[in-house]
Amino acid sequence: MAWFKKNATELPWRLSDLQKERDPYAVWISETMLQQTQVSTVRDYFVRWMKRFPTVEKLAKADETEVFRYWQGLGYYSRAKNILRTAKLIAEAGGKFPETRKELEALPGIGAYTAGAILSLAYHKREAILDGNLVRIFSRLYELAFLPIGKNESETYWDYARKWADAPKGYMHNEALMELGRTVCKAKNPQCGGCPLAVACQSFKDGRIPEFPPTKKRTQKDWHGTVLVVESTDGKILAVRGGQAFLEGQLSLPHFESARMSTAGLPAKAEAYVNADDVESVTDCGSFRHNITVHKIECDVLHVRLKKSSKSRKLADTYSWLPKAKASEMFANSFSLKALERLADSADKA
Ligand code: SF4
Repeated sequence: MAWFKKNATELPWRLSDLQKERDPYAVWISETMLQQTQVSTVRDYFVRWMKRFPTVEKLAKADETEVFRYWQGLGYYSRAKNILRTAKLIAEAGGKFPETRKELEALPGIGAYTAGAILSLAYHKREAILDGNLVRIFSRLYELAFLPIGKNESETYWDYARKWADAPKGYMHNEALMELGRTVCKAKNPQCGGCPLAVACQSFKDGRIPEFPPTKKRTQKDWHGTVLVVESTDGKILAVRGGQAFLEGQLSLPHFESARMSTAGLPAKAEAYVNADDVESVTDCGSFRHNITVHKIECDVLHVRLKKSSKSRKLADTYSWLPKAKASEMFANSFSLKALERLADSADKA
């Protein structure tokens, strides 16, 4: 704790008085943003978010498109979707965050880690947390040659986490361990010389640090597809909700999986969105590459001009038409934005 008091980084979600209880809403937002994302990236997102949605009630009233826009760039959009669902549930119940693990974990998107963080950092309860930083530290401290993937393995890690949290100022232990993992016990080149836990660290004593934690095999999935920029005669662009799982129900341009190198004309799969008889022209605008979560995407962009106005086509509920000039402001995913950039580039070249 002495090490943490001296070395705690100033963060927008951290109070200058480290021993003060925090706003559970701010803990929830920051910890959810920090999942899979670096602190340096989250700082600005968090400040911007809290300015626009300073309370759970304000967030509960926002619409999904705007929430996605404030999340844009953090990836894993299911987190933003769940944040909004949970905000609505909490606001409906009076705006107070639950104070038990069971109630918190029953809310969309709140798992064992986030529930522990809220209870520990906001309410100062003796509740454990376990994130990637703590996993790395525990693996090295106790020479755990496995990751918390199976039930038993996970329980071993949580047991250690509970031991650290079960102390009069357990919340400080939790936060100090997260900070230590981020700044000292880093994945590459841990700074053992300045580590307050070095005397207790088994892998340091045994000179076996590179063995812990064991590496996890990450498999990337290739996805090749086609995205359509369907434009009507009244200057509107067709947008859909749903599509590939990696876009998780967001508003996006119509897209589908297809073989590499799209053939000339309108692909058969495009007829799920446009009727071939309504098509005036199809222009190949090139392709773009993009990574979303584990997906390595390569996508062809086709500009499909219709002979008709947006009003002349009967549309399914999940379709909408966006004014072309404003389309880039209305999509909250880089996938659709990159396709629009391709379209603009190809128009410049024409
Ligand atoms: S001594 Fe090194 S490996 Fe062990 S906890 Fe400290 S920084 Fe991590």
